[in-house]
Amino acid sequence: MTPLGQRIAALIAAQGPISIAEFMTLALHDREGGYYATRDTLSADFVTAPEVSQMFGELIGLWLAQAWHDQKKPKNPRLVELGPGRGTLLRDALRALKLMPEFRNALEVVLVEVSPALSKVQAETLADCGVPLRWSESFDAQSVKGPIFLIANEFFDALPLRQYVKTERGWCERMVTIGENGALAFALAPDALPAGLVPDNRDGAPEGGVYERSVAGEAISEQIAHVIARDGGTALIIDYGYDAPGFGETLQAVAGHQFADVLADPGASDLSAHVDFRALAQAARQGGGSVFGPVEQGAFLTSIGIVERAEALSRNHLETMTAQLDRLINADQMGTLFKALAILPKGAPTPAGF
Ligand code: SAH
Repeated sequence: MTPLGQRIAALIAAQGPISIAEFMTLALHDREGGYYATRDTLSADFVTAPEVSQMFGELIGLWLAQAWHDQKKPKNPRLVELGPGRGTLLRDALRALKLMPEFRNALEVVLVEVSPALSKVQAETLADCGVPLRWSESFDAQSVKGPIFLIANEFFDALPLRQYVKTERGWCERMVTIGENGALAFALAPDALPAGLVPDNRDGAPEGGVYERSVAGEAISEQIAHVIARDGGTALIIDYGYDAPGFGETLQAVAGHQFADVLADPGASDLSAHVDFRALAQAARQGGGSVFGPVEQGAFLTSIGIVERAEALSRNHLETMTAQLDRLINADQMGTLFKALAILPKGAPTPAGF
């Protein structure tokens, strides 16, 4: 077990089982051993769309600029990214936005990032971008004022979630405890949740069915909508996930491009889970926003012009561009599992791609 794993085991020995959300927070963000806190690159373990192709960030930058135009160019726009990773998407977006100087010149960029190591990489990637940059460790309606033009790619999948398992006693929370051999292990809480805390759409779950809920994800979605309703702007959330509720568990660990054991080596693997888009949409509506989608990533990118962009770039690099396009939009790659959801002010017209 990693030193962080040993600390988590000591914590459980002292205070009893912890929720999966608490475990994820420690495994991902502990200042000394957390996965994100200690890494300056993620591509050793998994590759995200902006790292696959420059086209992804370029098109998203232009999509956000279009939203600014559609809202009659509000003053002091903020270009916000939640969880910017290495800063690649922002770099590509800001390059493409040289085509929209009016928007680009008015921007302040806000990078919402908890990881000190990744914040440093982002600062290096964007050192020469010529646009004012500001970092924030969290996102809420107080720390970020709008109008916001916000992108979150593979951010929500990394947020802590809780799991509840359907048993004959009712829905019981799955906790992290210490197993017989001293290793971390899952165990169900003895008492069932009070009725009414699991949404009705999970009523048909079979015994052993799992309900996953990210309270943190819902809270951030609501805050985004709140800022957009108050100050204007648009948000684009892209991630892998589902719209119709499922009964399976999706929490996974990945290291070195392979699935790993979630509990075995905390901090040494990335932890993520499929995003419940229906829950994010509901939270955004509660926050006062108007929601579009989710639509599949392949359809979204195609509709906003990725094929034409690939053709333009192919003049020099035909094979590379075909491979990148395939990776981003094909159904057996990222095209259908990944989805896009947009949040706009109430009454706004349907945005491009939805
Ligand atoms: N968007 C990037 C990186 C995705 S990885 C890309 O597409 O390549 C997830 C990112 O979210 C990392 O930058 C991670 O440090 C950040 N992150 C994870 N949880 C966070 C939280 N609770 N608050 C702020 N940033 C977080």
